[in-house]
Amino acid sequence: MDLLEIYVYGSPLLRRKTRKVERLPDHFPEFLERMFATMHNDDGIGLSANQVGVEMQFFIADFSLHDKNFGREVFINPEIIAKEGADIFEEGCLSVPEIREKVTRAFKIKVRYENLNREVIEKEFDDFFARVIQHETDHLNGILFIDHISPLKRSFLNSKLKAIAQKGKTQTNPVVI
Ligand SMILES: [Zn+2]
Repeated sequence: MDLLEIYVYGSPLLRRKTRKVERLPDHFPEFLERMFATMHNDDGIGLSANQVGVEMQFFIADFSLHDKNFGREVFINPEIIAKEGADIFEEGCLSVPEIREKVTRAFKIKVRYENLNREVIEKEFDDFFARVIQHETDHLNGILFIDHISPLKRSFLNSKLKAIAQKGKTQTNPVVI
């Protein structure tokens, strides 16, 4: 399967809010398969549409990589409608390679989203799953995990970020599906 190109830090697409999904594109399931393959290839657990250049509000996650009782999920037009508690844990991102930093997130969330059948679902998640969903929903709003760390810690990353942005700033073309 052809893998997709991952857009990295420096790409303007990662800083733009994605638009709500109206009609699902033709061959959407096939595109999702390519997204899962791309994500697995880089050992990721979540991947948002704009990370592969698509400016639409959806992301995928494979929770089975963390807990075998869970599976692959697709979140369309996700919106976090409640947050509770706080938790600090290290995060990474396929769009910010080789950087890992501790990020404070809500421990428990309630998210409203649509599944592949366009059914609106409201569901609570906590701990690791809540973290992934917050990270990916941030992406869809143009926010990266490094935006949540202190300016001092961020300054230590400047040279690494500059190097990543060399590639990212060339990734300016949206992918239309
Ligand atoms: Zn990410």
